[in-house]
Amino acid sequence: PAVPVGSVLRAAVRRWGERTAFLQDDVPQTFAELGRRAHAVANWLAGQGIGRGDVVAVHAPNCRQYPAVYYGILLAGATFSPANPLLPAHELAAQLTDSGARVLVTWDQVLPLVRGALAGTPVETVVVTGPAHVADLAARAVTEPGDVDLADVLAADPADRHHDAGVDPAADLAHLAYTGGTTGVSKGVEVTHRSVVTNVLQSTCWVTGSVPALDDAGDVTVRRVLGAEEYPVRLGEGRIIALAPWFHAMGVIGYLNGLVLAGTTAVVHMRFDPARYLADAVRHRVTSLGGAPPVFAALLQVPGIETADLSAVRGVSSGAAPLPVSLIERLRTLLPGAIIGEGYGLTEVTMIATANPAFRSGTRRAGTVGVPVFDTEISIRPLGGGDPVPAGERGEVCIRGPQVMRGYWRRPQATAEAIDADGWFHTGDVGVLDADGYLSIVDRTKDMLLYKGYNVFPRELEEHLFAVPGVAGAAVVGRPDPDAGELPVAYVVRRDDDDGAALTRDSVMAAVNEHVTPYKRLRDVVFIDAIPVSAAGKVLKRELAARERAPAP
Ligand code: ATP
Repeated sequence: PAVPVGSVLRAAVRRWGERTAFLQDDVPQTFAELGRRAHAVANWLAGQGIGRGDVVAVHAPNCRQYPAVYYGILLAGATFSPANPLLPAHELAAQLTDSGARVLVTWDQVLPLVRGALAGTPVETVVVTGPAHVADLAARAVTEPGDVDLADVLAADPADRHHDAGVDPAADLAHLAYTGGTTGVSKGVEVTHRSVVTNVLQSTCWVTGSVPALDDAGDVTVRRVLGAEEYPVRLGEGRIIALAPWFHAMGVIGYLNGLVLAGTTAVVHMRFDPARYLADAVRHRVTSLGGAPPVFAALLQVPGIETADLSAVRGVSSGAAPLPVSLIERLRTLLPGAIIGEGYGLTEVTMIATANPAFRSGTRRAGTVGVPVFDTEISIRPLGGGDPVPAGERGEVCIRGPQVMRGYWRRPQATAEAIDADGWFHTGDVGVLDADGYLSIVDRTKDMLLYKGYNVFPRELEEHLFAVPGVAGAAVVGRPDPDAGELPVAYVVRRDDDDGAALTRDSVMAAVNEHVTPYKRLRDVVFIDAIPVSAAGKVLKRELAARERAPAP
């Protein structure tokens, strides 16, 4: 339905009112409180003359105040532009300048860095919050003259809870998120309210087996259609740890809007601490484990996990990066009753394009990212362009559907290169569809290696590496070589056990190379303490590749 994103919040307030929406450091926030605070933010923004067509940047980690700020911006009709709180100053400045943000909501601990980034940007007003607000929303942030303390904004009790900004869902931008977490130049991605609401429904319905509906007030909601044997968690009864960052597509769609729509309680974790994640999963009897693959890899390493009481967990959902099959198998052993689902998407398609549906037990296929969510088409094209290739052949994954971005902000050339005249978005991922329409992601074109003219896909080697006993983490990158062009080299993290200690360069190479054709063979193994990953859980291959390009010491 073409309704604004604010209608997701309004329906949740009516439907889930006094249920706990967010819990951080044991301090609860109900859906009703979230609604009140979001309207307080919207009214304050409107009072500052911020509305349709204006951009508000949010530069903060996941915290209790974030959801109210997010929905407040959208209720005011303005555009939410998230920034990774770990961005270096010059990248933050570039993003603020490119987006044209008039208001910046930021975090007091990084204020000195932010201050240095603001000169020359269009930002007029800085709103500051801080960790003290997490426990006590009335606590003061550390501000400087001219700054606005978010506590003052949130404290207002808005008489007007029905601020109507007159949003046009099909035309107005809800999100202006930036790509470039792992590769290339950062570009703003334009996503309308309609795309956000559609994608939230696409993911929620696919995962929970429910159908979208409008409630009496015309706000969007979902109704469950499947029985308990098919999908074992009722709407309004789920509990999950919200760890996926809300400044990233997976976080803001799946772990913010999706949870609000389904009435799920989110235990908010600002950063990933595997032992704490496990302890909270047990203590709060979470019904789902969600995150990017490195989260599950680290969780499986926490001592005592085999005996932890995870009996409430009904589902595991992974996304953002490939989930190795060996990891799926270990999760299955640990959680025999849980449904393991995986989704695939990009910032440019709001969040999700395909998923292994969590309901319908016979329809999941490990190692694939499932089938398109509703209203979405996938086609595989030759890497150099041309007509779709037949099932079973590799090519570039192309996506068409209502969740495809409008374009790259102020970059018509890049937009024209990414979205063709028929509306197909070209992802830069290499994939293959099987005869039943299940998609597998082979790799990203940007990560592909060229060995003596042959394409080598690191992901295939990584699947084998993850299956070697004692390997806790692995990533394959190219080492420049004058004869071969690039040599496949594995970076490996040892597991903290006897198998891990016994690994050697030769044993790892032998274990992988027996499974692959000669040109794909690993040529070296480097042991490291940790694989560098982005906040969204993606391996930062460019950091490893840079080590390979650096001259030997
Ligand atoms: P950039 O590509 O601009 O450097 P990024 O990697 O952070 O930044 P995102 O939009 O967050 O960009 O990530 C999208 C990419 O993540 C996809 O193109 C795909 O390569 C990968 N991806 C997402 N989900 C999956 C999945 N389930 N399996 C494999 N790969 C996935």
